[in-house]
Amino acid sequence: MRRLVVVSNRVGPVRAAAKAAGGLAVALVDALRERGGLWFGWSGKVGERFSSRIEKVEEGPLTLLTMDLSQEDFDAYYNGFANQTLWPLFHYRVDLSQFDRAHFEGYNRVNARFAQALLPRLEPDDLIWVHDYHFIPFASQLRSMGCEQRMGYFLHIPFPAPEILVTLPVHDSLVRALFSYDLVGFQTEPDRIAFINYCVQETGGRIIDDYHVEAFGRTIQVRAFPIGIDTENFAELAASAGAKDRCVRMSDVLHGQIQIIGVDRLDYTKGLPERFRAFERLLENYPENRGGVTLMQVAPTSRTDVEDYVDIRNELEGISGNVNGRFGEFDWTPIRYIGRSFGRKALAGLYRASKVGLVTPLRDGMNLVAKEYVAAQDPENPGALVLSRFAGAARQLDSAVIVNPFDTEGVAEALQRSLRMPRPERLDRWHSMMGCLRRENVDKWRNDFLAALRGRE
Ligand code: ADP
Repeated sequence: MRRLVVVSNRVGPVRAAAKAAGGLAVALVDALRERGGLWFGWSGKVGERFSSRIEKVEEGPLTLLTMDLSQEDFDAYYNGFANQTLWPLFHYRVDLSQFDRAHFEGYNRVNARFAQALLPRLEPDDLIWVHDYHFIPFASQLRSMGCEQRMGYFLHIPFPAPEILVTLPVHDSLVRALFSYDLVGFQTEPDRIAFINYCVQETGGRIIDDYHVEAFGRTIQVRAFPIGIDTENFAELAASAGAKDRCVRMSDVLHGQIQIIGVDRLDYTKGLPERFRAFERLLENYPENRGGVTLMQVAPTSRTDVEDYVDIRNELEGISGNVNGRFGEFDWTPIRYIGRSFGRKALAGLYRASKVGLVTPLRDGMNLVAKEYVAAQDPENPGALVLSRFAGAARQLDSAVIVNPFDTEGVAEALQRSLRMPRPERLDRWHSMMGCLRRENVDKWRNDFLAALRGRE
């Protein structure tokens, strides 16, 4: 069995902490343990100057390798090109995407430095699996240093339509870099098709067959691998004593009120202001919900160095303040907005205590919260999921109540329908979604990707 080398911006956690962090870390750690391997990426630390020093932690057959970033590299690569250019652009926010050549140079520089650092630790038979938008040029850097190992890339976020991508001045360089991999994986079929359309329209590339595209003189495999969650474990967690305790405490606080739950990292792609407005519309259009239905939104801040993230928090505080001022009663707060994180068990309990899961991103690669909400439900009396059609998860969870998050009225209607959905309908929908989550869990995702990367050995 070939050794596996995983490259991702953040490394770990492993062991018990991996279980706490959930699906992806567990799935990767399992694969690394199984075949032995390296997991390489940024340490999360920023030093004053660049240093090529690698920190090494051995965990049985698994070795974690991390490097610090210099302040300059952090600003250009992470905060700059990755989070202020690629993140908004790939989520269709051309209006928020800022391009700065120096940031792009920094992005390439960090990819080159990381590739250079990994190079002496590679073995000829390694399988190399690179993750996400931080490391698009990683393989092209390694190839330029003479590496011939099989390399796969998985993009966790959406791949934009060509019309969006070409607004980026360096679109050609990015896509060319992807052709240094042997396999490029996307979350959904539309992402895969967007990539292929770009190759055909912009580079004169050619579709060879269902899974292969030729461009820039190379043929690569291009496939969709929808990422899953650790479904059984999450369902067990939600039925555990710790989660039940959270669930009971939640019910005590609710005094018979019904809870709708939203859980997101605070990000402008998650459609949070639109969501709050749709909830306000629910209270306007269906006044019977006043005093009886609460929206709890859990949204810890992220990427606070980037200004757009501060703006979104201010906007949300403004809207929830308005709605609460307008409708609130001494014994009922319509929107409860919580800016902190919860452990997995507590989160599972909160999902289970909520009659409706409201997941309305404006654009999302997959959205694992939607999957976790479903897995956490009581099999005897599950809640209903309201899900944006623009989340990758909507392609699998088509038994959710699917909405367009830009349609305030439509989301309010969907909420009303879900709040009143009879139990048999909730059960039907839940069984259908849970069946899919069991079949297409995170282990299948990892195994499918690695099988495609190995090809015919
Ligand atoms: P993204 O990767 O864009 O943040 P996903 O929905 O795909 O969105 O994944 C988010 C992950 O982070 C989920 O596993 C979810 O449980 C977790 N998460 C989000 N918000 C919180 C929170 N407040 N506390 C704990 N975990 C959270």
